[in-house]
This record gives sequence, C-alpha cells and structure tokens, in this order.
Amino acid sequence: MIEIDQLQKSYGAVRAVDGIDLRVARGELFAFLGPNGAGKTTTIRILTGLTRIGGGRAAIGGHDITLEPQAAKRQCGLVPQHVNLDSELTVRQNLDIHGRLFGMAPARRRTRTAELLDYVEMADRIDQPVKQLSGGLKRRLMIARALMHEPMLLFLDEPTVGLDPAIRRRIWALIKRVQQDGATIFLTTHYIEEAEFLAGRVAFLDQGRIVALDRPQDLMARLGAWAIDRINGEAMETRYFATREEATSYSASQDCGFTLRRVNLEDAFLSLTGKKVS
Ligand code: ATP
Repeated sequence: MIEIDQLQKSYGAVRAVDGIDLRVARGELFAFLGPNGAGKTTTIRILTGLTRIGGGRAAIGGHDITLEPQAAKRQCGLVPQHVNLDSELTVRQNLDIHGRLFGMAPARRRTRTAELLDYVEMADRIDQPVKQLSGGLKRRLMIARALMHEPMLLFLDEPTVGLDPAIRRRIWALIKRVQQDGATIFLTTHYIEEAEFLAGRVAFLDQGRIVALDRPQDLMARLGAWAIDRINGEAMETRYFATREEATSYSASQDCGFTLRRVNLEDAFLSLTGKKVS
C-alpha cells in the first residue's frame, strides 16, 4: 500500500527526513514512533501531498506521489495532528464539505454521513456546531471526516495527543475497528503504549532516520522479557533478563531497592536511540 525509497526532505540545514525506505502492506497498522522533531509529521505531509518531496520516491497504492498525485491522494484519508475542523459549522456540514471536495454526489454524501456518525457513535451530534464538542468528540469527527471518501489508507498523525486516558482508549478501539474493516493505517505517535497496543509493526524514528523496524514484541524481545530498575546514586539503571527467575535471582543479590517489571517498548526505544520518546 505504501512504498518509500530513500525519502528525503530538508528545511535549510535541518534534515527532517533523511533517507527513509519503507514498505507498508495492505491492511497493516503501522506506527512511526519517535520524539518531537524526529520527522514523523514531515513524512506524512509528503505522502499526503501537503509538502513537496525533497528526494527519493514514494507511491501510494501503486501511484507515484509525484507522477500521479491525484490518484495517490484519492487513496488517502488524513487526520492531522492539530484539530482543523470548521468550528462554526455543524458536524454534518463538516463531513459534507469534505465529501464535496472529493466529488461525492449529494445522495452518497448523506448516506455516508449517517453511516460514519453511527460508526463513531456521534449520530446524536449531527446538527451540533463543532465548537460545542469536547476534544475527544472532535478527534472522532476528524476520523469520520477522513473516512468520508472511503480511502484505502488512513494517516493518523498523533491521533490522541492531549486526550485523557479514558478517551484515548475509546479512540484506540475506533482505530482498531477501522483496521478490522479493511483499511491500512499509518500512525505516528510519541506515546509508547499507543504504538505497543495498536501497531502490528513499529518503526523507531530518530533525526529523520529509521533506527529500527519490527513487530513491537520482537523489538522488546531483543532485550529480554523482564527488567529490573535500580536507583544508582542520581541515575536509574535498568537490567534486562530472559526469564523472571534470572531477574529475581539478580535482585536477591542487591542490597538496595529495585523494581521488577516486564520489558516494554520504551526500553527498546531507549536502548536503540539512547533517548526517551517523550
Ligand atoms: P512532533 O512530534 O513534534 O510533531 P515530528 O517527529 O512530527 O515531531 P516534524 O514535525 O516532521 O517532526 O519535524 C522534523 C524536523 O523538521 C524538526 O526539526 C522541525 O523543526 C523541522 N521542520 C518541520 N517542518 C518545518 C518547516 N515547515 N520549516 C522548517 N523546519 C521544519
């Protein structure tokens, strides 16, 4: 569904995207995980035609984004990082305008609006002005809007940023459902647990480059299954173990406080980049 070869983009001296190669298969839920400024948004902006490619090549659904930009764009739905709904208009009007932009006939726009508002559980909000919606409802409406023209591929740029944990989980359930219903999803996040929970495969992005790419469980398994955190002076030291028995036998030999826990994706990111994600 996505083919990227040596993708590049610079802003002056900043290499925002620095030679990315990637293939995302149809039906996959793929995540780009990285700290602020890693190049996640720039990659999405290039793939969705919002910013010009600096170098390399990319294709969406077999359509080269430079040679066939319209055909490539038709395949894509985009939920941008910042809420960009028309707040003076109603929920229905926001969806309708998007449908018009994609050339959908009036009858199809009406049925699709009803279908999607059922889907995101917002049917009762159809005539409400967007400015009256909560942050979580706005995010759900942005997902519905991105799906209006029935794209094969949905880009979600930090879909749950700023939302509380309960609302975040509702959005996760919605994202999973969109994937189960056949869409390919490309997600960026700097929430480790979001990538761990949602993604089939994750790429760690740092300074415009992919530093690791694998299934979350395989990235974690590179370190082991269990971790022990121990305060050593000012610093926190973490050691990794293949089994719980090995970890507990190590901890028994320690004379200071420690915490035993499962290895998580943040450990994998830290050990590969030396940085925290957020
Ligand atoms: P965040 O999580 O903060 O959104 P990100 O991983 O999405 O970060 P990008 O927004 O792609 O990162 O930014 C990558 C780099 O490119 C950063 O150094 C950023 O300052 C720079 N950058 C992005 N857009 C522009 C622009 N329009 N002009 C100049 N520099 C830019």
